[in-house]
Amino acid sequence: MAKKLYVKTFGCQMNVYDSARMADVLAPLGYRSTTEIEDADLVVLNTCHIREKAAEKVYSELGRLRALKQARQRGGGEMLLAVAGCVAQAEGEEVAARAPYVDIVVGPQAYHRLPDMVARARRERRAAVDTSMPADSRFDHLPEELAGRQPGRGVSSFLTVQEGCDRFCTFCVVPYTRGAEESRPAADVDAEARRLVAAGAREVVLLGQNVNAYHGADDAKGGEADLAGLIGRLAGIRGLERLRYTTSHPRDMTPALIEAHGTEPKLMPFLHLPVQSGSNRILATMNRGHGADRYLELVEALRAAQPRIALSSDFIVGFPGETEADFEETMALVREVEYAQAFSFKYSPRPGTPAAERDDRVPGEVAAERLSRLQRLLDEQKRRFNASMVGQTLPVLFERRGRHPGQVAGRTPYMQWLHVEGDESLIGAVAEATVTDASPNGLRGELADGRGAGTHGRAEAAGLGVAGGVPA
Ligand code: SAM
Ligand code: SF4
Repeated sequence: MAKKLYVKTFGCQMNVYDSARMADVLAPLGYRSTTEIEDADLVVLNTCHIREKAAEKVYSELGRLRALKQARQRGGGEMLLAVAGCVAQAEGEEVAARAPYVDIVVGPQAYHRLPDMVARARRERRAAVDTSMPADSRFDHLPEELAGRQPGRGVSSFLTVQEGCDRFCTFCVVPYTRGAEESRPAADVDAEARRLVAAGAREVVLLGQNVNAYHGADDAKGGEADLAGLIGRLAGIRGLERLRYTTSHPRDMTPALIEAHGTEPKLMPFLHLPVQSGSNRILATMNRGHGADRYLELVEALRAAQPRIALSSDFIVGFPGETEADFEETMALVREVEYAQAFSFKYSPRPGTPAAERDDRVPGEVAAERLSRLQRLLDEQKRRFNASMVGQTLPVLFERRGRHPGQVAGRTPYMQWLHVEGDESLIGAVAEATVTDASPNGLRGELADGRGAGTHGRAEAAGLGVAGGVPA
């Protein structure tokens, strides 16, 4: 009888990708995904360690799962509990010490070994722990993905092309939890993208912690492809309508990549380019390797290459030593760029990172007040950006049913969700829609042709004979 697997994902898109791959790895053992956690024979928490709150959420979730596990055991069943991802990597044995009912602790570089670990956890009475960072790539050990059947693997699918990070920003745990930067060979990425498209993907989002540092082996390109080269190669895949990439570091924005935004029609005019701060002094102590002026030059170059490009960013406020004047420089940069959307966080000291050792911490209430000022400004910009869409006709990739019956929802080129009255057969298609209403959280519109005739990018039109998969 099939066993049931429940994977709960915290954190970034790379974790969403990894969660889908964990399900692939466990499928040969008979595990099939369930949406009911109470029924699961194996629960995996794929965790995030980027900020303290994210890590703490895992322990409160584990407390809840302990009761579920005991209830299943009382009924004669089994519920193995696995902690995967960056909390597992950072805390290792400590997870099992703090939550002794956990059966498996596995880091992001080792999850291809989950089948062995499940067997070991069953056999032995103690938790199976693997936080090693093997010298060989875990991608070489993963089975072919069961594309299209997992969250994050549908009409719009994530595809990790690069792992780890060598940048060592002073606030960040990623280089410690995900290890050294490693790029997958272009041919492997190409093959995975083709399988995703054959399973119904129309958009592929290329993922990496520092994705624009991608440099994968590529025989066709005389040895190595950069991200611009990889995008050019993938754009040739028939049936693939849209390409995106995230997350980029300003230091690795090359002229070729900037130019690709103007020349490659499948590359969407939207870029998440985190700046973190507008103060040169803070950027230097963060070890970001560029100043505010350089960032603004990049924005100008991107807008020259692609005048329609919309920008997004990440900000950290209250970094150690941040003064009111530094913060005002962040506000000035935000006013100058005018973002379509952005994420902003209060600095969270992470054990083992250089910034956590500093004694010039910004008091919590000062950081909270700055964060709310920044968020007000970013919200105003997002509202303005969304409102500017009203009356425009945009190509929308429809991904799922809408909130109400008879509605479908898709994404504009700028990542906004747009709802229209329309038939489910639109899912997996790009159709033109005219925006009628805008709110900070999304758009409403009408299909430009009344019902989606004249759409392009549908599976039938691409001659693939498969329906677009819908993300669960
Ligand atoms: N690689 C990306 C870059 O260079 O911008 C960022 C990856 S990180 C997973 C996502 C975001 O989390 C960062 O851009 C940063 O804003 C935020 N972040 C990372 N460490 C943080 C910390 N210690 N406290 C608060 N926010 C943090
Ligand atoms: Fe972390 Fe991004 Fe800096 Fe790498 S580049 S250390 S992932 S913030």
